Amino acid sequence: MFREGIVRRYSAKAFGRSLWVFHTNTGGCNACDIEILDVLTPYFDVERFGIKLVGSPRHADVLVVAGPVTRPMIEPLKRLYESTPDPKVVLAIGACAVGGGIWFDTYNVVGGLDKVIPVDLFIPGCPPRPEAIIYGVALALGLVVKKVSYEREEQIPPEEILANLRKESGL
Ligand code: SF4
Repeated sequence: MFREGIVRRYSAKAFGRSLWVFHTNTGGCNACDIEILDVLTPYFDVERFGIKLVGSPRHADVLVVAGPVTRPMIEPLKRLYESTPDPKVVLAIGACAVGGGIWFDTYNVVGGLDKVIPVDLFIPGCPPRPEAIIYGVALALGLVVKKVSYEREEQIPPEEILANLRKESGL
């Protein structure tokens, strides 16, 4: 899921040659970070596409963020976003960054990344596989064709489910 127009427009105009990435975690379990770093290792080797990890948000085109947003991370996350020069792209990696994951309603978590800063691309999974991360980024940049699309399932009213259960159990 991504803000297609914005990411593609930026990628074509501003990021034509390479993407410099700053990676952080706002309170996750670190499994997503391991998969993100795996993408950057020689096995997947995204540096061959010009995608490179940098040590400061001031040098980055892309913010890659994993984990749910914990309360102490709200202000640092806002500062991180403001420190990154425009145009920038924000990627939320993993179920926690997408919507808070299993922590979404816990006392110290405000939810997913988009509760605090604008997000351009959401890559779900707990954690997402490196291939899913690479596919999501390639999709956002317009390098591959979309293979699946989101479809809302028809909602069955709870009364109908209960009536069916009663009928089946003979109660
Ligand atoms: S999405 Fe799963 S793997 Fe990633 S930080 Fe949350 S709990 Fe950990």
